[in-house]
Amino acid sequence: MRKEKILSVKICSSKESEILHSLDKRIKKGIPTVIFTPNTRMLLQANASPAFLNILNSSSLNIPDGSGILIASRMLGGNIKHRITGIDFASSLLALAEKRGYRVFLLGAERGIAKKAKKNLKTLFPKLKICGTHHGYFKKSGKENEKLLKKISSSHPDILFVCLGSPIQEKWITKNARQINSVKLSIGLGGSLDVWAGKVSRAPKIIQIAGLEWLYRTIKEPKRARIFFDIPVFLFKVWQSKHF
Ligand code: UDP
Repeated sequence: MRKEKILSVKICSSKESEILHSLDKRIKKGIPTVIFTPNTRMLLQANASPAFLNILNSSSLNIPDGSGILIASRMLGGNIKHRITGIDFASSLLALAEKRGYRVFLLGAERGIAKKAKKNLKTLFPKLKICGTHHGYFKKSGKENEKLLKKISSSHPDILFVCLGSPIQEKWITKNARQINSVKLSIGLGGSLDVWAGKVSRAPKIIQIAGLEWLYRTIKEPKRARIFFDIPVFLFKVWQSKHF
């Protein structure tokens, strides 16, 4: 996989089809793989926290989930040409899992959401094996966490979707995912379960294609308005990283 660094975070610049092909081979061979889906906010967090930077760079692959990352790559003379949103990538992974018979576990979101997402995904991917679900409001260490790890292990998933929001999901995956023997691929997917459950709607296709889904989500959820400040700060830091 081709990679380039943006604000010291390694980001994959390969096409989605190449990534899926490589992941399929890794799952078949049983190679443990971790995928994160960083956006500009996460790169800024990593820029401010060496510990989070280490976590992001410890993954097998970081896919570029955000138009800001494409602009940054262009500024740095890089090769990231396509934005791969976490949720679209996850849908491609689900199609692959259905085709190959890989077992998927859905972890995260409020009580009942992962179950609802499972039900809706079963209509989209009828042969998909969703071997278990669990909500995301559990203690992330200690007994409750151990119990959850046992529950996940006993359902023998090949792929683990972790939808706890960032940076909780990246920290949780790094600490826990490799302890579940059957899991070959873990991926952090933010609010994807809310979308599949129908709790949150995605932007119309034309807005997605224009790369403006972040604007749509900000209008719907004003708590996301911080993104208006994040983007100029992010691009300034990228510019700085090139010139100083
Ligand atoms: N969440 C969770 N456990 C937590 C905190 C958050 O399961 O301890 C869930 C929350 O319910 C939501 C998701 O994580 O479903 C975060 O969604 P958001 O869209 O904010 O994530 P982002 O993609 O912006 O990181």
